Amino acid sequence: MATTYFSKRNLHFLLHEVFKAEELTKYEYFSAHDRETFNLVLDSATYIADTLMHPHLKEVDRNQPELKNGQVTVHPKIKEYLKAMGEAGLIGAGFSFDNGGQQLPKMINSCVSFILMAANNGMMYTGLTSGAAHLITSFGTPELSEAYVPNLLTGIWQGTMALTEPQAGSSLSDVTTSATPQPDGSYKIKGQKVFISAGDHDAAENIIHLMLARIDGAPKGTKGISLFVVPKYRPDGQDNFVDNDVTSTGVYHKMGQKGVPTMHLTMGSNDNTIGYLVGQPHQGLPYMFQMMNEARIGVGMTATAIATAAYYAALEYARERPQSRRLNQKNLLDSPQTPIINHPDVRRMLLFQKAVTEGSLSLLLEAARLYDISEVAEGEEKENAFLLLDLLMPVAKSYPSEMGVQSVSQSVQTFGGYGFTEDFPVEQLYRDIRITPIYEGTTGIQAQDLLGRKMTMKGGKAPKLLFAEIGKTIADASTHDDLKPYADQLTAELKRIQEVMSSLMPYVQQGDIERYLSDATLFLELFGVVIIAWQWLKQAVVAKQALLTQNPEGDELAFYEGKIHTMKFFFHYEVPKTLGLAVRLKDTEVLTIVTEKELAL
Ligand SMILES: Cc1cc2nc3c(=O)[nH]c(=O)nc-3n(C[C@H](O)[C@H](O)[C@H](O)COP(=O)(O)OP(=O)(O)OC[C@H]3O[C@@H](n4cnc5c(N)ncnc54)[C@H](O)[C@@H]3O)c2cc1C
Repeated sequence: MATTYFSKRNLHFLLHEVFKAEELTKYEYFSAHDRETFNLVLDSATYIADTLMHPHLKEVDRNQPELKNGQVTVHPKIKEYLKAMGEAGLIGAGFSFDNGGQQLPKMINSCVSFILMAANNGMMYTGLTSGAAHLITSFGTPELSEAYVPNLLTGIWQGTMALTEPQAGSSLSDVTTSATPQPDGSYKIKGQKVFISAGDHDAAENIIHLMLARIDGAPKGTKGISLFVVPKYRPDGQDNFVDNDVTSTGVYHKMGQKGVPTMHLTMGSNDNTIGYLVGQPHQGLPYMFQMMNEARIGVGMTATAIATAAYYAALEYARERPQSRRLNQKNLLDSPQTPIINHPDVRRMLLFQKAVTEGSLSLLLEAARLYDISEVAEGEEKENAFLLLDLLMPVAKSYPSEMGVQSVSQSVQTFGGYGFTEDFPVEQLYRDIRITPIYEGTTGIQAQDLLGRKMTMKGGKAPKLLFAEIGKTIADASTHDDLKPYADQLTAELKRIQEVMSSLMPYVQQGDIERYLSDATLFLELFGVVIIAWQWLKQAVVAKQALLTQNPEGDELAFYEGKIHTMKFFFHYEVPKTLGLAVRLKDTEVLTIVTEKELAL
């Protein structure tokens, strides 16, 4: 198994040198922390990742959860992991002191997720628990928080997000699970949920579902959906917990992330499932949407972490695997074979992986920083951070997941035939990452969110703010002669986005939304490349300043030079792709209108 699965040096570079995490401590909410406490949390996560997660990467994948006699058993290591995470305070690290947390910034918690998911994404349980508990503390009554949150944050109970139904995946407005009011203020829940991650298992004493359902008589569509706490075992009012009639109907056998049980659940088989309303009736979707940015950063981070682990496995292999001679030494058959890292095409594949993974990580920390500011700042600063975050969110979810799949594919390719075997971890990581462009809103849905809503909301204020932010990086880069050409290239890319928007806007004015959004995914792709180019230029500026002011030597010199080199790689190999995308986006011929027969015959 590969020994390195992430770079601590890179994580610290981004956190402390590029995004200056410590600046967040100027806000009252984070003032109990400093750089040292941030690093201690990361060390604690690394310890858990190194000792309890990474050693079991393969084992957890090969021993899938089983449903027998109504009981779901998972790998025994999961229980140890949950206990360790609870004891280290990492499940509730982002919660307020009042709610039993450590008031840590999202930036730090995102780095914790990155480390854990790079070690073993098949043990993806605690992020779901934090998300569920966060919904209760944000919108539920103090009584609901008191009853459920402490055991969730210590890892004794598992939390889930129970949204999807057989007919309601991308379209949650079609949720039909019903909630019938009871005289005591609770609700009887009836219906089916599918694909519920960690929806039942024996490593937790209770499972707490945060479930969407429709109160009897509620309006149709998104305006009639409410949020409920639906436990597997419910309190009976006399300090006992009784079965709540949530039946595990099936466990899906999946392509990847096999360590996590993905459940089909049936509520109310015996007309005895009780749910407790969270917040106000009919506000379920708005509550979920408020949590969505958090969840989408989480999925982007999972994808980045998996692709990072695959990159380090490929790098290690490429340094050790001898094959062929260097291109300039083809005739020297008596000479020993060279490690494959010496072949330009292999280095191209490795640079691609480095560019995608470190560019994605940078974007996600940018998003996490905006999330923190949008939570704790006031007035215009808060509002602007929220708008920027909202705009970046579809990219922060979909670039790392779509490009992460391609990056891990290149990791497999770097291994040659061995990459396709079970002897190395990359085949598993390739399977694991494939879900990330699907759950938490597919790429197609993210694209419609970006082009259909985020680019135009508030009269296009969000893109204006974004372009101004990118402009600051361009100005910084322009002060260095060797970075200026890249700053100019990024300026040209911003212009390209504006041109594409100008060519698409007439469709909105004509009311032809289907035409406007028909190539939304291509727009998302183009926009994503430009955003990652911005992140790379930002990193290059910091690296350049370090080279000029710190006179680094040895590994440090190589680290900073590697940053500038990878930025150049991204601008030369990836950014030009926007040209072709823009040609298609401005093309007036519609080709997505095609008959089913044309497709089929
Ligand atoms: C491993 C796994 C774990 C999951 N975990 C959870 C969980 O914990 N909780 C939970 O609630 N759900 C969970 N899900 C469900 C997941 O969020 C859904 O699978 C996802 O939202 C897509 O829904 P669907 O599968 O019904 O696909 P569909 O919505 O049927 O989509 C199929 C295809 O059609 C496209 N499409 C659909 N509608 C549109 C449209 N309006 N415009 C353009 N294209 C469209 C989609 O982009 C996609 O390519 C999980 C799924 C999996 C596989």
